[in-house]
Amino acid sequence: MTIVSPDVDVSGLEAAVGADRVLRDPDSLARYSHDDAEWAPWETPLAVVLARTTEEVAATVRWAAASGVRVVPRGAGTGLSGAANAVADSVVLSLELMDAVLEVDVDERYAVVQPGVVNDALRATVARHGLWYPPDPASSAISTIGGNVATNAGGICCVKYGVTRDYVLGMTVVLADGSVVELGRRTAKGVAGYDLVGLMVGSEGTLGVVTSVTLKLLPLAGRDERAVIGYFPSLVAAGDAVAAVSRAGIVPAALEIVDRTCLRAVDEWMHLGLPDDVDTLLLARVDERGAAGDELAAHVADIFAAAGGTDVERATDPVEIDRLFQARRLAYPALERLGPVLTEDVCVPRGAVPEMLRRIQATAAAHDVTIANIAHAGDGNLHPLIIAPEGDAAAKDRAEAAFSAIVDDCLALGGTVTGEHGVGLLKLPGLRQELGQRVLDLHRSVKDALDPAGTLNPGKAF
Ligand SMILES: Cc1cc2nc3c(=O)[nH]c(=O)nc-3n(C[C@H](O)[C@H](O)[C@H](O)COP(=O)(O)OP(=O)(O)OC[C@H]3O[C@@H](n4cnc5c(N)ncnc54)[C@H](O)[C@@H]3O)c2cc1C
Repeated sequence: MTIVSPDVDVSGLEAAVGADRVLRDPDSLARYSHDDAEWAPWETPLAVVLARTTEEVAATVRWAAASGVRVVPRGAGTGLSGAANAVADSVVLSLELMDAVLEVDVDERYAVVQPGVVNDALRATVARHGLWYPPDPASSAISTIGGNVATNAGGICCVKYGVTRDYVLGMTVVLADGSVVELGRRTAKGVAGYDLVGLMVGSEGTLGVVTSVTLKLLPLAGRDERAVIGYFPSLVAAGDAVAAVSRAGIVPAALEIVDRTCLRAVDEWMHLGLPDDVDTLLLARVDERGAAGDELAAHVADIFAAAGGTDVERATDPVEIDRLFQARRLAYPALERLGPVLTEDVCVPRGAVPEMLRRIQATAAAHDVTIANIAHAGDGNLHPLIIAPEGDAAAKDRAEAAFSAIVDDCLALGGTVTGEHGVGLLKLPGLRQELGQRVLDLHRSVKDALDPAGTLNPGKAF
């Protein structure tokens, strides 16, 4: 018999899934205890389960429900809200070994995948069949489809192609009592019953554990990428260009902001040859074919110049386009090297982007904190990244005050506290401000209906 806590005997879990599936050594418990949100609290789990099958997931949940133990589902742990952080008396249920692409149907254009498939691996697999899975979080090289589904992840091309929810047709889910259900469909259309697939997407592991997903795919061919880049004298000037692109009725395939703090951090780390004398980089991509693409790129370039952009350039070379977007993708890990990062994920109406950026800068000054900025700006989804030196308690307090001020400003401008990372633990106070008691009660009713004992990821998401 194995005892890992005075009160909890995990031998039943080892019997249910196999002792080799259950990790209990201190290093593993530490490694799986939290996600990438450095400021969110976590507990040490009782054990980590490395599930390989739906049946092992179901057996884990059944054992937990019967033992009064909580289950925290986990993909790759790249989340930025603490949603995968272990809670008291929990097992972390890792889906990372369930990483097979089970089926690609070329004619019907869908794929069935296990949840541990890494986003880029799926994209590479379906590309070999001439198909494309659009949602592309900047973490696409490291995050899993299960995590993307559970957070309803967005990404760089989502401004034009939509977010994860727009591509999830169906799923296999292990419910809180350990039973297994199939939700959704494989057809192009379908409205039978409540949209329980839509409910599961973005539920942050609180309503069920996803063990397979059916994803809609698009044809790979048919796009022709051009990038437009501009350097702006200030963050707000770049925001003005974003609002102007939206006002002009243009829907770019990407529109991303990278500010000077991020550019410098990336270049010091990766030596990409990025300019060190500019304030803010605005990166757009359009993907219409032929003359239409040329015209659109020219229109975007004109808007950038009119908003104060300098050195506005167009790039058609895929290697150069990739290098520029690489700077955007690497910004977050580059900043993490400077100190603990408190990540915002506010999303405001596109027309309010300049004002929100102005307020973020005012907040940084008022609270005497460093705030770097990256943004899926075309969606109005801003990531002010508040950096505090390691071990500086006063700076940490100021950073937390700045975090709250940004949330207040976002809500005052008609925005939402999280555009794509999810609520997890970090955004619980902001969510309460945003939703109000009646809607929070509705959330509680849904949770009680599906997980009355609170087995799955309690304390997260609402
Ligand atoms: C450098 C970097 C860039 C990022 N860029 C983006 C971005 O552009 N867009 C974006 O949306 N996010 C981004 N993120 C955040 C993060 O990558 C996403 O939230 C991602 O979807 C999390 O996937 P994961 O596999 O790491 O999940 P985890 O962090 O392990 O888990 C996230 C949530 O999903 C739940 N979960 C995981 N798997 C399952 C499952 N099978 N069933 C039920 N629940 C499950 C967990 O309980 C938790 O609530 C970024 C993160 C980093 C570090």
